[in-house]
Amino acid sequence: MSRYIDEQCRICRREGQKLFLKGSRCYSDKCSISRRNYAPGQHGQKRAKLSEYGTQLREKQKTKSYYGVGEKQFRGYFEMASNKKGITGENLLQILESRLDNVVYRLGFGASRAQARQLVNHGQFEVNGKKVNIPSYLVKAGDVITVRENKKDNGIIKVNIEANSARPIPAWLELNNETLSGKVVRLASREDVDIPVEEHLIVELYSK
Ligand code: SF4
Repeated sequence: MSRYIDEQCRICRREGQKLFLKGSRCYSDKCSISRRNYAPGQHGQKRAKLSEYGTQLREKQKTKSYYGVGEKQFRGYFEMASNKKGITGENLLQILESRLDNVVYRLGFGASRAQARQLVNHGQFEVNGKKVNIPSYLVKAGDVITVRENKKDNGIIKVNIEANSARPIPAWLELNNETLSGKVVRLASREDVDIPVEEHLIVELYSK
């Protein structure tokens, strides 16, 4: 088990950035990046200079890890983003932010995106009054995400709300602690996305 837990921190160390893949540990001094900010492995302390392709690839891998999305689905999101009006890279981030598991995490109901995904999978939430257990469900402006009535006593969600109260809710979402619900005021814009990513590198990679 500990090997699996370390696996997520190894992803951050490989990218040289905090990707917040684990709950409260990411915000504590136990974070591996704070203690060992170099790539894992025998030669981890010697960071090799990346080629242009390598830099683009790392940016894509980092973004996939951040949102917990597989290659096929990520590629699908890129196609969706390219077909939308506007800047493809920004559209891509907006789509990723709109995933239900991400919204549940952003609202503080989940300690991490991985845990939020599990909570959604287990049918803890409804969108506009209807149960939705698909983590990749894409929310729209005006949607209301609520902890289902018979799940409101869920200890994990209660603990998360308490523990995450200091984590700011992004401006595009509105949390109602009383009703355990959140509203999508508008879709996320680039300024709302705090991931340290240069999305144009992903666009360049897929446009080759
Ligand atoms: Fe591990 Fe979280 Fe720190 Fe990443 S940010 S190294 S997942 S504790």
